[in-house]
Amino acid sequence: MYRTHTCGELRISHTGQQVTLAGWIQTVRKFGSISFVDLRDRYGITQLLFGEELNAMLAEQPLGREFVVQAKGMVTERSDKNLRLPTGEIEIKILSFSVLNRSATPPFTIQDDTDGGDDLRMKYRYLDLRRNAVKKNLELRYAVNRAARNYLHGQGFMDIETPFLIKSTPEGARDFVVPSRMNAGQFYALPQSPQTFKQLLMVSGYDRYYQVVKCFRDEDLRADRQPEFTQIDCEMAFVEQEDILNMFESMIKYIFKEVKGIDYAEPVKRMTWEDAMWEYGIDKPDIRFEMKIANLKKPSYVFLNKDDNATVINDAGFKVFDEAETVVAIAVTGCAEYTRKQTDELTEWVKRPQIGMKGLVYIKCHADGSFKSSVDKFYNEEKLKAIAAATGAKQGDLVLILAGPEERTRKAVSELRLELAERLGFRKKEEFRLLWVLDFPLFEYAEEENLAGRWVARHHPFTAPKPDHIDAMINNNPLIENTVEYLSHPYANIKANAYDMVLNGNEIGGGSIRIFQRELQEKMFSALGMSEEESLNKFGFLLGAFEYGAPPHGGIAFGFDRLCAILGGSESIRDFIAFPKNNSGRDMMLDAPGSIDEKQLNELQIKLNLK
Ligand code: ASP
Repeated sequence: MYRTHTCGELRISHTGQQVTLAGWIQTVRKFGSISFVDLRDRYGITQLLFGEELNAMLAEQPLGREFVVQAKGMVTERSDKNLRLPTGEIEIKILSFSVLNRSATPPFTIQDDTDGGDDLRMKYRYLDLRRNAVKKNLELRYAVNRAARNYLHGQGFMDIETPFLIKSTPEGARDFVVPSRMNAGQFYALPQSPQTFKQLLMVSGYDRYYQVVKCFRDEDLRADRQPEFTQIDCEMAFVEQEDILNMFESMIKYIFKEVKGIDYAEPVKRMTWEDAMWEYGIDKPDIRFEMKIANLKKPSYVFLNKDDNATVINDAGFKVFDEAETVVAIAVTGCAEYTRKQTDELTEWVKRPQIGMKGLVYIKCHADGSFKSSVDKFYNEEKLKAIAAATGAKQGDLVLILAGPEERTRKAVSELRLELAERLGFRKKEEFRLLWVLDFPLFEYAEEENLAGRWVARHHPFTAPKPDHIDAMINNNPLIENTVEYLSHPYANIKANAYDMVLNGNEIGGGSIRIFQRELQEKMFSALGMSEEESLNKFGFLLGAFEYGAPPHGGIAFGFDRLCAILGGSESIRDFIAFPKNNSGRDMMLDAPGSIDEKQLNELQIKLNLK
């Protein structure tokens, strides 16, 4: 037997017992004729005491960091207790030990604050995984996985696997493709999600399905994306949107309780997509703090049917505001006394290319009730007061105003809001606020050159329009005559039965009620610019299935890695994946992707044509 106990198990109550432990050497500390060795395994650290005799053996056969050893000894009470360690009241007086395997000097120290940089740690991920910090993350991931499965099992969901080698039907993201040797010249694709399979399972009658499943998307990796990631993928039949919202709101609350011990008692707040864009400038607002946007001009943006908020900015000879499509403001709590240097720094911040604003206007609402702004020339005190009032600013607050084109300005103000909240400590890691964002637009105007003049599905092409928007979809020609005016096309206003779950400003889940009739699905494909032939070629199997008694259905998928990262208080999903890839999609440990040899290429009948 290699061990009788783990390195995290022994307590004062074990004193006097003879035990055998096995693990990795964390540190060796010599004190004259005795040595202390910290032995580590997955469960903790136990101190070993090598007395004089064994110490002499150690001198001949030194133990290095990360050696794997087995040690037999007596549990004894420590005179110098370390109460920060669960095993800190005891130590093991060693009677015998053996080295099971030696270790080369690790390229970085395996401890909480390691000296290894990111790349080094990725290359030696198997060593990084020994560190407490990383281990805790994987434990949390497993706890979330277990809680989700328990909950779903308890609700009668069945875990059903779906294939990874499927047909390429690029919509949305780019597919990863896999050449088929047996069908030369043909390719499989790796699924971006099991979307069509889970819908087919509904047609087959498995009315509650789930899977904790890998998804693959060949996207340019923006910060913190992985080419393969995991979803908790779910689908239900005979449901309306409300059923899905209730079922999965309860699932997340169950996970909160199981994993974090949090009782999230209140119902999850709900907000329409339109309100989210209007009040927060983004479809995944962080509602841990207020700082809502004040819209100072009538919206020019047709998605936002919001003309209730009267214009606060009138023509005042200040061209930047008068001519801007959009003027928006936020009130920043307690920052009225910002210095020139501080407001200049914020101005530079919004001018960075990622934000793309031309400048920033401020109004300081001083504690004595007076106002000072960077546009005093154009706006008198009364007007400044009205603007400040529209933002809900109190005395002592700083009002920040941005002006420019609709989409860019709205995005910029949402980023500015988050940045200031971060600086002011409003984004507390241990505070969790959930939000449902509802009623997303069904279509999105395709920006890409090659799709110009076309609509793309905002969620995916299987999402159902709201029942009272179906007519607008069926009775209007999708063609956009004049691309500049796409916003006034009736399609721009069609809303979907689609929903996202947002946690602390991150989209953690998204789904929709699906189309389940063949005719409507066909209409959808044609609205997206697909010919009949193309839609049959890509999705004939689904259209066919819809002819054989498809039930009404809907579902949702949660970004499992992201959910874990947020619950673990981290910005990065990579920390919660055992073997992640770097920002260029490389596995640094395997050195993948790599080339394949000529023989493999020949078998596949593939010739490289590298540019
Ligand atoms: N398959 C969808 C996605 O990956 C989620 C869903 O609609 O259930 O975004």
